[in-house]
Amino acid sequence: MRLTRSATRRVPQHAGARRRATAAAMHSSVLALAILMAQLPTHGQPAHARAPAPAQGQPISTAQPFLPASIGRVGFPGGIVRVPLPPDTTAVSANGRQALRYGNDAIVPVPLTAQPGSGSIEATTSAGTVLVTFRIEARAYAEQRLTIANPRLVDPAPEDLRRIERDQLQIDAARDRFSPAPPPTLSLAAPVRGPLSSPFGTRRILNGQPRNPHNGLDFAVPTGAPITAPLAGEVAGVGNYFFTGNTVFIDHGQGFVTMYGHLSRVDVKTGDRLREGDAIGRVGATGRATGPHLHWAVYLGNVAVDPKLLLRTTPRPR
Ligand SMILES: [Zn+2]
Repeated sequence: MRLTRSATRRVPQHAGARRRATAAAMHSSVLALAILMAQLPTHGQPAHARAPAPAQGQPISTAQPFLPASIGRVGFPGGIVRVPLPPDTTAVSANGRQALRYGNDAIVPVPLTAQPGSGSIEATTSAGTVLVTFRIEARAYAEQRLTIANPRLVDPAPEDLRRIERDQLQIDAARDRFSPAPPPTLSLAAPVRGPLSSPFGTRRILNGQPRNPHNGLDFAVPTGAPITAPLAGEVAGVGNYFFTGNTVFIDHGQGFVTMYGHLSRVDVKTGDRLREGDAIGRVGATGRATGPHLHWAVYLGNVAVDPKLLLRTTPRPR
């Protein structure tokens, strides 16, 4: 969804000060974010945590570290956390799904709905199943008020709800994929050239009614602008859906899936193997959109995380 007029304002971060959002602040209409991964302690690369070999047919087009610096040992809602595993771990599950592994760490998404405190994953070891916990800090997301001209897009009719349910089965089939080959890196190129508009995680008020938070990142780009694969992968699904219009999913390996919404044209089909930079389609305004833009979402184990954490370069906000 394009942000046409924004009630969003950001409060500058204070390095080192990790303030918890107060209940009052959570209800402020112009609240901003207090915590970013950039403030989190960074950890040296342990000797055992070498990058897995890239899957066959997935050349690394640029020399990128496997883990972007934004991924640390502490998580926040919408973020990603790197959790050290017991040495003899044979399988690991997070949020009920197999987790991506990197050396002796699990790379774990933290759902936007997670509460600050602690999270946990399950590691299967020779001694049985072990719960491994990690810390989740608060992160406040801004509120965004949007006006949608067609009320049916805000309050779907009964037949729309049936379609939304059918859509969701296909969407989950693509987002739930777990291919054994690991991604070559978690670091992503921008899929379009253009400024960012609506950030990830904004709490949305559509025509005065609260709706699900924004689970992707929007780029303000005109209809027809080319969209390219930000990383090698396999097209995991192509469909036309009520909310996101013409949509493409790419599976990059081990539950790392990216999604592209509102396309005016799709240039790929399910099963296509893409290299980084290959064409996916063109920007449009299909589905529930206030105007042309790219809605870009990133999933780990079917949990949406902030795509900006994985971008190699940060596009400017509009
Ligand atoms: Zn969006």
